[in-house]
Amino acid sequence: MTRTDTTSTSPRHLCVMNAGSSSLKFGVYLPDEGLKLRMSGAVEGIGGAARLRIVAAGGQETHTGQHTVPDHAAALRVLEGLEDGPLARGSLMAFGHRVVHGGAEHDAPVRVDEEALRRIEALSSLAPLHNPPAVAVIRELMRLFPDIPQVACFDTAFHRSHPAVADRFAIPDALYQEGVRRYGFHGLSYEFIAGALGEDAPEIALGRVVVAHLGSGASMCALAGGRSVDSSMGFTALDGLPMGTRSGSLDAGVILWLQQQKHWSVDQVEEFLYQDCGLKGLSGVSNDMRELLASTAPLAHLAVEYFVYHVARMAGALAASMGGIDGFVFTAGIGERSPEIRARVLRRLSWLGFSIDEAANRNGGPKLTRPDSRLPAYVIPTDEELVIARHTQALVQPRPATALV
Ligand code: ADP
Repeated sequence: MTRTDTTSTSPRHLCVMNAGSSSLKFGVYLPDEGLKLRMSGAVEGIGGAARLRIVAAGGQETHTGQHTVPDHAAALRVLEGLEDGPLARGSLMAFGHRVVHGGAEHDAPVRVDEEALRRIEALSSLAPLHNPPAVAVIRELMRLFPDIPQVACFDTAFHRSHPAVADRFAIPDALYQEGVRRYGFHGLSYEFIAGALGEDAPEIALGRVVVAHLGSGASMCALAGGRSVDSSMGFTALDGLPMGTRSGSLDAGVILWLQQQKHWSVDQVEEFLYQDCGLKGLSGVSNDMRELLASTAPLAHLAVEYFVYHVARMAGALAASMGGIDGFVFTAGIGERSPEIRARVLRRLSWLGFSIDEAANRNGGPKLTRPDSRLPAYVIPTDEELVIARHTQALVQPRPATALV
């Protein structure tokens, strides 16, 4: 069923969608008010009894509930039925989507038509856990709102500027041509940070900056002059740092051993690498950094130290990628909220020239280093949804071309 309601009095808005394997997060932005956030929310637990929660920009809860939601299309139908929810018709201008994998061909967001959606769908083999929910959401929105434009923003696009040495594995070229490359992820977050540096850390904005996006998924990026030149993540979001439940870099021989000696199937290995490793696997306690920091279990201590060690080790590697380093930025859940992890990483990086300002770090920065520190470090909160809203606005409301004189 499609409807057009021209009587709505609510302001024009863009709706940003972020589809995860069992969740659908969304945000509503007002393009006529500088992309102010109007509301945000999520449907979580898709595949069964799901929880809906929507919060207005001021923080007050406007919608909550439990619904039986078998899939992402059903989640959209729940949202469509809400009065003054994210899919309120009439004032809806466009949808912007986070799509994890854009493959080698997408170095920028695209407006989605049938052909573009077909190409995104074809990339699902590269990201079988991540792209299908976004494709399902786009397809259902095309059906429900055939006249509303949709824009896909890729987590890989920002890293397409990598040089060949950072874009390849040491495997035959034929596999590279088939798409087995180091794509890099969290690109929307790094794009936000690259844009924010000019205001938040102007002295390093054009320099060589290592950015650590430390959330339940974690990666790091080498930013040179605001462009990504290397990343800790490669072919999939399994590579690089240890994460909440993902292993991070693992000798490929371990996977052969699991298959040969323990006779694990491909599905078992996949479930293991994505769900049972990382902080959770190593500690045996939790995937949540807060619980590990509060725990007295020796393996919880080891898991935290392992995480800190690998963030610092990767910082050295990415500094080498750029031939030096001018600054460091922490972002995402752990990076933004854990003074202890920031302090432990920066202490390990003192050999590079970072002298932590302990009080500033405890107070949340934004600058974390002392005035006499040779190099500065910052904490900058990321906002991937705002990056998607900006791209969506730019693609559906292109600025008038300036006449060339
Ligand atoms: P996602 O990758 O799911 O977007 P976030 O960036 O929101 O994740 O980060 C979530 C993680 O941040 C949680 O799993 C938790 O480990 C960590 N975290 C959140 N708050 C704190 C805190 N105060 N101290 C330490 N870790 C925290």
